[in-house]
Amino acid sequence: IELIVPCYNEEKCIGLFYNRIKEVFADMPGFDFIITYIDDGSKDHTMEEIKKVVAQSKAGKVQYISLSRNFGKEAALYAGLSNCTGDYVAVLDADLQHPPELLKEMVAAIEEEKYDCASARRVSRKGEPVIRSLFSRAFYHIINHLTVIDLMPGSTDYRLMKREVVESIVSMTEKERFTKGIYAWVGYKNKWIEYENVERIAGKTTWNFWGLVRYAYSGFIAFATTPLRGVIY
Ligand code: UDP
Ligand code: MG
Repeated sequence: IELIVPCYNEEKCIGLFYNRIKEVFADMPGFDFIITYIDDGSKDHTMEEIKKVVAQSKAGKVQYISLSRNFGKEAALYAGLSNCTGDYVAVLDADLQHPPELLKEMVAAIEEEKYDCASARRVSRKGEPVIRSLFSRAFYHIINHLTVIDLMPGSTDYRLMKREVVESIVSMTEKERFTKGIYAWVGYKNKWIEYENVERIAGKTTWNFWGLVRYAYSGFIAFATTPLRGVIY
């Protein structure tokens, strides 16, 4: 199982993430894990912290890709997915907002229930500003009506998948990536695993309101042909 962890200015989270992940690994003795951190051009001591973790771990169990500048999370995920080698691959955030304990349930969904992938879905938005929840709801409503993809409200980009799913995702080479939409686009049998919103363990989010609006916009542009059809009409 290979874990792909995008990191941008996460110096406080790297060590905490590693300690928590080790407990999860200890609870899943039948599996061999690799952690691949993707340093997305961090400007703090993220790289030093990653190297510390590499030095602490067994050879080949923790590795990293360091991007030459900050390209954004979507690009970091693409770098990770294009270079991963695990039979099962998980994508999750460094700030522990994607509870690593769910991995056990995700593996069971694939191995026992024969799903191709299992994805986490937030069922509460506790601790989030009301305006953000409202816009989020509007976003799902619009994108599901106007595009060919069907996005599950509350879906995150935290998921565990089989190799073939990863290969389908990587075969989509667009540069302006909207991973959640790509997940929906490639299909496959997916199990939703629900969890309650968790606050970030340390550090602070890089997303502000307008950043999220831009993100929603790029998702819309990537998958909707409606505006183009509108222009033609
Ligand atoms: N991240 C990244 N590049 C960026 C911004 C964020 O790789 O330019 C990573 C970040 O380190 C974290 C994940 O993407 O692991 C989610 O970011 P964040 O927690 O800031 O977003 P939120 O959880 O608030 O949506
Ligand atoms: Mg976060």
